[in-house]
Amino acid sequence: MTIDLHTHSSVSDGTEPPAALVRAAAAAGLEVVALTDHDTTAGWDEAVVAAEEAGIGLVRGIEVSTHFRDAGVHLLVYLPDATDAGLQDELARIVAGRAGRVPAMLARLRELGIPATEEALAAASPGNQVTGRPHVADLLVRLGVVADRDEAFARYLSDGGPAYVDRYSADLLDMLARVEAARGVAVVAHPWGRGSADVLDEAAFGTLADAGLAGIEVDHLDHDAAARARLRAIAHRLDLVVTGSSDHHGAGKTGHPLGVETTAPDQLRRILDRAAAFGSPTTLAGPAGKELR
Ligand code: AMP
Ligand code: ZN
Ligand code: FE
Ligand code: FE
Repeated sequence: MTIDLHTHSSVSDGTEPPAALVRAAAAAGLEVVALTDHDTTAGWDEAVVAAEEAGIGLVRGIEVSTHFRDAGVHLLVYLPDATDAGLQDELARIVAGRAGRVPAMLARLRELGIPATEEALAAASPGNQVTGRPHVADLLVRLGVVADRDEAFARYLSDGGPAYVDRYSADLLDMLARVEAARGVAVVAHPWGRGSADVLDEAAFGTLADAGLAGIEVDHLDHDAAARARLRAIAHRLDLVVTGSSDHHGAGKTGHPLGVETTAPDQLRRILDRAAAFGSPTTLAGPAGKELR
């Protein structure tokens, strides 16, 4: 069974609408795909319908922007109760913080002589519900200022860049408590990719596991072979689930095709069992879901 547990649609910063993403996942030969848009559950309903039609398993997820000891940490949250107020309130704060700093970033770009307006931004990212730096990057591409998102981040948007403005993110330990209350399952995304490598050592993972963390995304293109081996050993010692995924963003991030990294069925089983143990009201859609149930 081919399982990819981390993808983005155009509801956040991917380029395919949720239904198209799910169809692309089926066409790519995946049997289970998780939709994990940044900080929102808004794409779930469309993805669920498309998954039933395409006959593919769909895991409802979110990639939540958090921080731990001043480092940004992305937390994958699977199968939480989307109606849980404690979770949705915090997601709303994150989305508001993300969108709230965009005008300041556009103003900085205009000070640099780039005609970056809110109208142009809206036109460059249709369907999007969580406006962030990737959309500003797409605008810079559209304006011909840079060739692609990577160049936009490297020259203007990354932390410390000339158009960077800080924003709100959730406290990781607080978010783990909210996830547990919402009966979801939490997995740290690409822990040793950009940003968080220094703070997330084995002791930190131990602290997070005590706070309810279920797993570590080990097989991700941001991790080289040595990092994967060390992360796998840490996961084993702490009895954490090991996942692998593409972090696909459609055309928004090159080199991350659907299924380029995958999760073993027994590890997905552990996530589903844990969700069921929490009484998560919905687990998996589609025929593959029935098989795994
Ligand atoms: P934001 O949450 O608005 O600060 O935007 C952060 C998001 O931008 C991350 O979650 C990534 O999806 C994306 N991102 C960060 N760095 C890069 C990069 N160098 N190239 C392309 N996308 C990036
Ligand atoms: Zn993203
Ligand atoms: Fe991420
Ligand atoms: Fe991601």
